[in-house]
Amino acid sequence: MQLDDCLFCRIARGEIPAAKVYEDDEVLAFKDIHPKAPVHFLIIPKKHIQSLAHAEPEDNALLGKMLGLTRKLAMQEGAVNGFRVIINTGRDGGQEVDHLHIHVLGGPQPWTK
Ligand code: IMP
Repeated sequence: MQLDDCLFCRIARGEIPAAKVYEDDEVLAFKDIHPKAPVHFLIIPKKHIQSLAHAEPEDNALLGKMLGLTRKLAMQEGAVNGFRVIINTGRDGGQEVDHLHIHVLGGPQPWTK
């Protein structure tokens, strides 16, 4: 299920353009619009899950698939010497867009400091 007015649901539906790096029937990955590293993209489920704290046990396979994609897509995008995975969760976790997303950051240093 998707929401009409959710930014990332709208990107998943193609209503808002995004620089896609991967897509299948369940998952979409696209470049972050304000990159914080030479490589910075987001992996989202196409179905609306508000945050990691809202994922249900039946989402575990989907979450595992998304985590597995981090490695494959990090290599594809050029983060060949390491990468960082972040899932901001809830307001106190720094989450600003209320649709579950995995940040993948990488590329040549310096950017972690
Ligand atoms: P959060 O703080 O974990 O919720 O991160 C949300 C991320 O979404 C931020 O890094 C934003 O730069 C990114 N973002 C917001 N709007 C867009 C967009 O339209 N396209 C791609 N990335 C976006």
